Amino acid sequence: MPIDATQPYDPDNIFAKILRGEIPNETVYEDEHVLAFKDINPQAPIHVLVIPKGDYVSWDDFSARASDVEIGHFVRKVGEIARDLDLVEPGYRLLANIGGHGHQEVPHLHVHLFGGRPLGPMLARI
Ligand code: 5GP
Repeated sequence: MPIDATQPYDPDNIFAKILRGEIPNETVYEDEHVLAFKDINPQAPIHVLVIPKGDYVSWDDFSARASDVEIGHFVRKVGEIARDLDLVEPGYRLLANIGGHGHQEVPHLHVHLFGGRPLGPMLARI
């Protein structure tokens, strides 16, 4: 069920529980600001979720409230993880779903990183 991304941060969301170690995850990368882990229901051979450790609901919330250090670090790490996974060639896709129309299900900002096969057109044409 998509979330309302204008709601305040819910500290009981599933990714907050992962960050607190209450739910296990398959970690790909972790540092003081960022956690990257395998999606539990992968949509491609490589499907990694990259999240900031701060309490941000969405990309616009992150861009409004996070520090320049957090934002710069997050952007750099997403690219670094893609390079470390050898995805630059043949290519990969980044996706951030936001709110109802974006079909965001977990109310903690996450960037999906997909790769490992040709990913097709960006959206189904309707
Ligand atoms: P959204 O639709 O919010 O952009 O995507 C949420 C993603 O989180 C989905 O791809 C879903 O498979 C993933 N997910 C949901 N719960 C868990 C979990 O407990 N562990 C992991 N690793 N991924 C999860």
